[in-house]
Amino acid sequence: MLITNVCTTPLLVRNKVPYHWAHGVTYGAEVILIEVQTEDGKSGYGETIATPSAVGVKAFVELAGRHLIGKSVFMSRQIMAECYHSLFQAHGTCSAPRFGGQILAGLEMAIWDAAGKTAGCAVHELLGGKVRNEIDYFGFIQGETADELALDATRLVEQGYRVIYGKIGRGEQLDIEIVQKVRQAVGESVRLRFDPNEAWDPLMATRMIHRLAEYDIEMIEQPCDHRSLHALKQIKGSSSIAIAADQSVFNLADVYDAVTLGAADLIVLGLHETGGVMPFIEAAAVAAAAGINVCIHGLHETGITTCAANHAAAVITNLDDGNQYMNHLLSSDIISSPNLDLTDGSLPVLSGPGFGFEIDLDAVDRAAEDHRSTMSNSSPGAPI
Ligand SMILES: [Mg+2]
Repeated sequence: MLITNVCTTPLLVRNKVPYHWAHGVTYGAEVILIEVQTEDGKSGYGETIATPSAVGVKAFVELAGRHLIGKSVFMSRQIMAECYHSLFQAHGTCSAPRFGGQILAGLEMAIWDAAGKTAGCAVHELLGGKVRNEIDYFGFIQGETADELALDATRLVEQGYRVIYGKIGRGEQLDIEIVQKVRQAVGESVRLRFDPNEAWDPLMATRMIHRLAEYDIEMIEQPCDHRSLHALKQIKGSSSIAIAADQSVFNLADVYDAVTLGAADLIVLGLHETGGVMPFIEAAAVAAAAGINVCIHGLHETGITTCAANHAAAVITNLDDGNQYMNHLLSSDIISSPNLDLTDGSLPVLSGPGFGFEIDLDAVDRAAEDHRSTMSNSSPGAPI
């Protein structure tokens, strides 16, 4: 079945509450919705994260999208290799392996969704079949103050979450207060993970990890600048708390470097880093060869990514049991089904066809209008 058209639409889907982390405050998911249309009238959907500029990202997606026209939905690997070569290896610049993954992720997703709908089966079935029946997620605490975060942690534990994850990296004293109050709120039996999002240098990381150890923290995620795996290894070498690599790993080559260097106990990886479903599976296999698990990474994304990641995670052998879930942050979504509410921190592996979601075109129109009006009323580069 051949692809006849690729449509792109910038969207803004707002969060319920502002999202506080080491990089400031984020108010919603800004994405480029991608629709791949086939000659028999089917539509496959994906999305690409629109940062740092929806105008710029949309232009790159549309350039890449030209390579899809006239190609079979069952040739995504060849199509994506052609896109990558054309846009990001052209003339030997090789300047953007990570940006390339971000740009191409939504197109790759949309081709898989179209392929599944064409074949009449779930994407995970096309990938060889699921090896589990459900995906487990951590409870992601939200709030600005330590008291708000601790209260949210209590709510999430009451909802059945066994792993709680929170953002720190917001200043030494506030970080300590957050961790102390969250631990006090949830009791001893809940597993706690915290993410400073690169806010610490190795000296500060060593000091903070030493201070946080008394609160029985299971894992600290990407404490230092992502550009140095050696710094991450240095921190891990002196840490009594397990260390995860997040922004340091985007693709299978990064994962290979991290695991062979012994820089991380856990690899945090998402479709928007790897460039879609298949490169995620390949990168996970590299971690599996080193005996290390992969945790699904979340960005500011819609239910489209939640569903796509669910299918990719269903087929890898080394999935962590505390994956990142972002859908509950949204005030609304652009899919009308399935229901993505978690039960005891878990979501079933989704069925098909494709990724198994129904797009809500009215919600898409509203999110597109919100993006248009927000962009026209804000200064260039203003954070959403
Ligand atoms: Mg992280």
